[in-house]
Amino acid sequence: MQNKVGNETFINNTLKDNNIKAKKKFGQNFLKDSKVLSSIVEKSEVDKETLVIEIGPGLGSLTELLCEKAGFVIAYEIDNDLIPILNDNLSKHNNIEIINKDILEVDINEDINKYIKDYKKVYLVANLPYYITTPIILGLLSKTSLIKRYVMMMQKEVADRLTSKPKTKDYAAITIAIQFRGIAKTIINVPRSSFIPEPNVDSSVIKLDLYDEKKYFPKNDELFFEITRLAFNQRRKTLINNLQNKYNKAFIQKMLENLNYKPAIRAEELDINDFISISDYINENYKEE
Ligand code: SAM
Repeated sequence: MQNKVGNETFINNTLKDNNIKAKKKFGQNFLKDSKVLSSIVEKSEVDKETLVIEIGPGLGSLTELLCEKAGFVIAYEIDNDLIPILNDNLSKHNNIEIINKDILEVDINEDINKYIKDYKKVYLVANLPYYITTPIILGLLSKTSLIKRYVMMMQKEVADRLTSKPKTKDYAAITIAIQFRGIAKTIINVPRSSFIPEPNVDSSVIKLDLYDEKKYFPKNDELFFEITRLAFNQRRKTLINNLQNKYNKAFIQKMLENLNYKPAIRAEELDINDFISISDYINENYKEE
């Protein structure tokens, strides 16, 4: 039997036969390019020793390929209407659990722990719903350390931010949050014409491999992330101006002097180690008034 993987006819027929439309509120843009689908699975290097987490299986195109290559797939789909379609399209596979829940609400560790003993590694592979890309990534990174690799399709603009370098226009607080945990790179660029319906942005797939061991050691992780977010609050402003929202100006000026930064420095000129020095300094020297 031929694979029911995503191509234009498959997607259009499935929507028509089930009398449904792609729902904008759930970020439903179905990938119709089977070459891109295969390439995502190939580049994620999923094998039978891998437990895969998929977010938003949609009509099951990527899921079908994942079931073929992976040991087991846990797929979270929020849209009730898609569950019978997924069950039908994936009926020949017995290595999948489809969970009809919002990914932002699930206890991911509990679900992974149900299956993990039979597999060597856990990877996430997904064509993400774009309206919640950042909460999904930051949420999972903070909730679980069981997932070692993230292969995710997202809006190109967001991918550029996650994989950028200091002193570029895309460099942001989230770039540093990602660097803190691992190495991210763009592996595939996908034009908007590869989706049904066509979104008004282009997409990229990124691969994020987490460090096996923690690599950066600020004295206070929470403060480090808070300072990074504050520092990028308004990109065009200097670090002094942004940090002034929380700390007094004289303290920040003194800090920059002591740490040998120029007074007009901006967040985008600082790398992750600079942010560690700054947050360590604040951690040690700032006394709440
Ligand atoms: N994987 C399919 C594909 O590649 O064609 C569909 C990808 S589509 C961009 C995003 C999918 O995520 C949709 O199926 C949508 O219903 C689902 N989704 C949206 N919000 C979700 C949430 N909070 N939790 C789980 N799934 C969600």
